[in-house]
Amino acid sequence: MTARGKKTVRDLRRGSRSTLLRRLYFDGPLSRQELGSITGLSGGSISNVTGELLADGLIEECGSVESDGGRPRILLRVAAGRAHLVGVDVGETQVRVALFDLARTELAASDRPLDDRGHDAGHVAELILTGLAEVLERTGTDPGTVLGVGVGVPGIVEQGAVERGGRVGARGEPGGAGAVVHGQTVGWDAVPLGRMLRAGTDLPLFVDNGAKTLGQAEMWFGAGRGARHAVVALFGSGVGACVIADGARFRGATSSAGEWGHTKVHVGGRRCRCGARGCLEAYVGAEALVARWGAAPPGGGEKAGLAALLGAAGAGDPAAVALLDEAAEYLGAAIADLVNLFNPERIVIGGWAGLLLGPRLLPGIRAAATEYALRFPREQTEIVLGTLGPAAVTVGAATLPLSDFLDSGGEFPRRAEADAAVAPAGLRA
Ligand SMILES: [Zn+2]
Repeated sequence: MTARGKKTVRDLRRGSRSTLLRRLYFDGPLSRQELGSITGLSGGSISNVTGELLADGLIEECGSVESDGGRPRILLRVAAGRAHLVGVDVGETQVRVALFDLARTELAASDRPLDDRGHDAGHVAELILTGLAEVLERTGTDPGTVLGVGVGVPGIVEQGAVERGGRVGARGEPGGAGAVVHGQTVGWDAVPLGRMLRAGTDLPLFVDNGAKTLGQAEMWFGAGRGARHAVVALFGSGVGACVIADGARFRGATSSAGEWGHTKVHVGGRRCRCGARGCLEAYVGAEALVARWGAAPPGGGEKAGLAALLGAAGAGDPAAVALLDEAAEYLGAAIADLVNLFNPERIVIGGWAGLLLGPRLLPGIRAAATEYALRFPREQTEIVLGTLGPAAVTVGAATLPLSDFLDSGGEFPRRAEADAAVAPAGLRA
């Protein structure tokens, strides 16, 4: 029996594999010498572990660089095709399921609109499972190479008592199947989404809030890169945020931290989708903006409505200009609250409405944030737009199984055993 707290050789080996895989994933291609100087691992360890990772097909050689006077140094990188990731965005109007290789190249995607059943949970689970089957089949992907299915949902996600923390969830039973979603604005009251999905797939499941998955994507691959203290704001039909404190996501007691859209900007103000009054979301969420403008072409949906509002403001329509100026001030004031509460070095504004309105609103948002925030922390904070585009939520959802894989040092997850017996091919129809 190993003494508690003492690391076994296997733990150390896994730690080294994880360290090298992460470095190659985020900063590769790199030579063995560069890996040594970045990680501090000995030449012998680097040589052993990279040898193992090469033998497992997880990394590959990709050319060489000249070194001063010595032999050329071979470059290594993660083998993009060795494994796959699935990211799901349960959005405001549709469910998008995307299949990625390890390098996050999108290989296939399925977009299924929510019909008049709206966010009916059974319907959403069905759309996710159908989309999953479709992208795997269309690309001929072996489910055994899929590291997991990450799902970004609107609402607060409780991971379940058995598998709190995600990683245990992926590799032990009952997997991310314990996830329960409290989505007050879409009428989800403790929806056992994990269990509903587990009924149709034996792939590892990871469920998290959509603003959090977007935040993860911007922090890893987008405008948040390099920051240790940041807030990524999701500006869509509703408004949310992902707070990164000292490099880690701030979750709170039950993962609901960052519900920034429901902070109050007006006591006794407009009724919000959450039922309370005066929430930020009730003033600047895309749904609220289009409703408040009242001049959007009927039947066009929120995106068309917001584009029309932007167009009208561009043409000088005073009502549209006033509404957008006011939205910038509300957002700037609410960002000032984030600055005062969290002292972030960077605030990233993402989400589809953020992409659409960001260029117009950003100067006003920055000015209002300066006006409303305490001067010292405001001077330390830059406010920027997200760089990842509309696919950020699916990419972010796919980072959930990716993170688990990198942490494990490149171990392929076990599939859910109960279901594997029933569905060896990975999916039940
Ligand atoms: Zn609210």
